Amino acid sequence: MKRRRPLIAIDGPSGVGKSTVAMALADKLGFRYINTGAMYRALALAADEAGVDVADNDALKRFCASVKMGFDSTKGALIINGKDFSADVKTQKAGRLASVLSANPSIRELLVSFQRSLGKDGSIVMEGRDIGTVVFPDAELKIFLDASHEVRAERRHLELKGERETRADVSAEIKERDRRDTERKESPLKMAEDAVRIDTSELGIIDVVEKALDCARKAGLVDK
Ligand code: C5P
Repeated sequence: MKRRRPLIAIDGPSGVGKSTVAMALADKLGFRYINTGAMYRALALAADEAGVDVADNDALKRFCASVKMGFDSTKGALIINGKDFSADVKTQKAGRLASVLSANPSIRELLVSFQRSLGKDGSIVMEGRDIGTVVFPDAELKIFLDASHEVRAERRHLELKGERETRADVSAEIKERDRRDTERKESPLKMAEDAVRIDTSELGIIDVVEKALDCARKAGLVDK
């Protein structure tokens, strides 16, 4: 079914600045912003809290069958069995668990269909790993953000300042997440053929947002 209003997909690897750019772009366009990484993180925390091993495919399948999901659109938070995990989704623990759990096919099926239902009316900027390739392959605009490994590790390290992780640890962790995201069987991270690639290694946030806005203008999604 055709959406009446556009959907913008922003994909890319860990630490590339997707959230900052997607949020700013949504704000400029008056669109809603949806962070799908936060959903994988919240579901991973919920599974962990329920004593489910995030690497156990059978246990995750049973977990998915027992889960009731809702969405708090004011906070942009996934609500799982009545609980909001947003206070903890940005932690290293949530990121580590999500990176493993997200390779599970039952989890992906559950979240992809939830994300499709949230995005169906459009006027949305949705960020993740597979938005332009799997969730909304018909998105009106697809942007793939990329940056060198060193720059991404540095940005993530700054983001995690409160968690006392060394730069070397964060760098190794990003490498491992990249490997898992790109090598997994289900919806691996890859750029959609019709996506616009923006390398953010040498750019500040304002420049990246300006480039993204320019893409939106070229795609006819902005009047000014
Ligand atoms: O983007 P963020 O780092 O918050 O995502 C957490 C994890 O969730 C990633 O490491 C990735 O494995 C997974 N993810 C995914 N598909 C998405 C968004 C995130 O597999 N659309």
